[in-house]
Amino acid sequence: MSTNPYPLGLRLAGRRVVVVGGGAVATRRVPALLDAGADVFLVAPELTPALRAHVDARRLHWAPRRFAPDDLDGAWLVQVAIDDPIAAASVSAAAAERRIFCVRADDRAAATAWTPAVTRHGPVTVAVLGGGDPRRAMSVRDAVRDLLAARVGEATGAPVRPGGPADATPGRVALVGAGPGDPELITVKGWRLLTQADVVVADRLVPGLLLDELRADVELVDASKIPYGPARAQEEINRILVERALAGRFVVRLKGGDPYVFGRGGEELLACAAAGVPVTVVPGVTSSIAAPAAAGIPVTHRAVAHEFTVVSGHVPPDSPASLVRWEHLAGLRGTLVVLMGLKNLAAITATLVAHGRPADTPAAVVQEGTTGAQRVLRSTLGAVAADVAAAGLRPPAVVVVGDVVPALSPRGDEPADPDG
Ligand code: SAH
Repeated sequence: MSTNPYPLGLRLAGRRVVVVGGGAVATRRVPALLDAGADVFLVAPELTPALRAHVDARRLHWAPRRFAPDDLDGAWLVQVAIDDPIAAASVSAAAAERRIFCVRADDRAAATAWTPAVTRHGPVTVAVLGGGDPRRAMSVRDAVRDLLAARVGEATGAPVRPGGPADATPGRVALVGAGPGDPELITVKGWRLLTQADVVVADRLVPGLLLDELRADVELVDASKIPYGPARAQEEINRILVERALAGRFVVRLKGGDPYVFGRGGEELLACAAAGVPVTVVPGVTSSIAAPAAAGIPVTHRAVAHEFTVVSGHVPPDSPASLVRWEHLAGLRGTLVVLMGLKNLAAITATLVAHGRPADTPAAVVQEGTTGAQRVLRSTLGAVAADVAAAGLRPPAVVVVGDVVPALSPRGDEPADPDG
């Protein structure tokens, strides 16, 4: 009799799957079952905190006790995630009686089904069985994953367009956040869409390394080189997005940080919607949080700051065009993060001090955060504008004001004591 496994993709949506055990193995197995839409029934006297979080969020049902054979009534599959061989064997016996496949983390030989090592790339799932050796399965899976990550554009990518024009897939646009600067801080989804793009329209602040890896046939539009004023340039970008998409191409609009944080992503979305072009938005890691973090500054910290406010400083506080009520911001106690604020920094800090934020409030400026060129300046609200000018800091930079600035350094900005 052959002992070769027969591979299957189980469609578990709405179907009961019983998981026996509430420890580390169950914690690792449950998310994929939930992702597949399974109706998970967990039997275990105790749970890990991660499993308890699923219970609290009502993503699964939990019977807080030991396994009983009746637990399998109505189930399509059971996963045994306990070490006790006698208890595990009783689950196997109950499963066999009911003709339910039984996965055994503790004993592959006793199992009637094996779970493969898996890697997922958008709609494609690759599952690897290692012929009885889970480590072999994982190393093959890792190799496949690397291959797909490198060549995902070819493997899962550009929509297949069979037949004539009637079947032609219409183009679409993805507004993708590229993250703050470190090319590894793009999201997995953003990266996948980028590798599938026919056209990439990129901002000045987008990490260059991300663009280095594009396929040679991808049309790259550098939005920062569009030779008009900002308003005309935005119209031109909108026009390029819509025109390329209507020509059936997949356009990725790659923007620094998060597309909706001072990124004009909303305008591009509206322009596409008005032209009937479908748009996907992929959030990004915003510099307003990541640049402080890269400088060791948490935007919130227990017992220090229970709020953070992100504000644009590109319009001076006294300008009629300003939408920011700086005099109210001056009354907040938490963290203030100013983007695009270097040019108007003297006016901004003076306004905050004039309306009551103490001049000795800690402040820091992080230039080109998360990149190899990162520079950090620590100062106070009263002195930071002069210090920035003296140090010659330039955009892109974020200004952080508040008691979180020294929060993670026990002695504030004092140099480390060599004897301590
Ligand atoms: N959508 C972007 C912000 C665009 S506005 C985001 O979510 O990050 C541009 C401003 O962002 C810059 O003027 C600067 O204030 C800030 N910025 C962007 N990248 C930065 C970085 N790596 N380090 C510091 N500030 C950055």
